Amino acid sequence: MTDVRAATGPAAPPDIEITGTAQHRAWQERQLPPVEQLAPDLWSIPVHIPHNPLRYVSVYAFAGPAGLTLIDAGWDSDEGWDALQAGLDGIGGAVAQVRGVLVTHAHFDHIGLARRVREVSGAWVALHPADAAVVSRPDFRDAHLAVATQARWLQAQGAPADEAAAVVGTPEQYAAFTTMALADRLLRHGELADVPGWTLRAIHTPGHTPGHLCFLDERTGLLFSGDHVLPRISPNISADRASDPDPLGDYLAALQDIRSLDVREVLPAHEWRFRGLQARVDQLTAHHEARLAELLVAVRTNPGGVPWDLAGLLTWSRPWDQYDGHMRIFAVTETLAHLRQLLTRGLIVASEGPVPTYTAV
Ligand SMILES: [Zn+2]
Repeated sequence: MTDVRAATGPAAPPDIEITGTAQHRAWQERQLPPVEQLAPDLWSIPVHIPHNPLRYVSVYAFAGPAGLTLIDAGWDSDEGWDALQAGLDGIGGAVAQVRGVLVTHAHFDHIGLARRVREVSGAWVALHPADAAVVSRPDFRDAHLAVATQARWLQAQGAPADEAAAVVGTPEQYAAFTTMALADRLLRHGELADVPGWTLRAIHTPGHTPGHLCFLDERTGLLFSGDHVLPRISPNISADRASDPDPLGDYLAALQDIRSLDVREVLPAHEWRFRGLQARVDQLTAHHEARLAELLVAVRTNPGGVPWDLAGLLTWSRPWDQYDGHMRIFAVTETLAHLRQLLTRGLIVASEGPVPTYTAV
């Protein structure tokens, strides 16, 4: 007897299918997508992100008798504030009716406008404890301290002092980010979010940030994935001054955690809605495995390298010398995340000291 299944391996997961077709069409036409009604009491509202290739955040608004509950709020800018107000207006609501904001993670394009929403409506702001702790840190609330800490941190990754200072920028440039809303409520893994009429289970999915949350509605199988899983781009996974020691290890584990969930459709915070979570998880996993392999080769050929230099040896979406400012910081923090995972796997070792160097075993 031949076991056909054993011979052919498990069936491949179903392909990815774009369900947010209006969002996808708008992307190709370089327009903002429309506000869309996704259920009798659920809408997606695009909120523009200025000067950012992601273009917009999809804010999800749930309407109930007690008012509106949001997942994420958008980047804090006047243009974004207008877009959020107009979007809520268009569905027959208003910012003043918002009773709560569930924040997938404490990045400015998600939490930024939560502060203004709370000022207008008195809404609560809910975060996972790990991200709540990050936004309350002194080196995130004080612009001078933030810039100095970040520059020092980059020097510890091998950046020359003048280049570190140049890419970090000035306290004035950082000041807006110190206004992020502190949490009124904490949401832990497995807890039900306070959205009347919905059974939104919080799923801790660390990696993109230490306290990233996805929300799974157990009734409909809708997964609000934040930035954990996006249909086109691979979310930035950074080892930085606020991350856990091995954020890529956390991320890869959290991808496997959601892969087995019963998900009908993925509602991400950027780009477009889609089906085929398992296939997308497999693509993202393969992307990082390829990146790890590429970095291991770079470390082997450059023993004693530092993240600041190793980052420049990897393949990026544009030539390395065009990476400046925050792009370069992201590249270095992402390289360090992959180095930390290679360390966890025992494939490389790090030296002791203020500027650790990395060598293959
Ligand atoms: Zn984002």
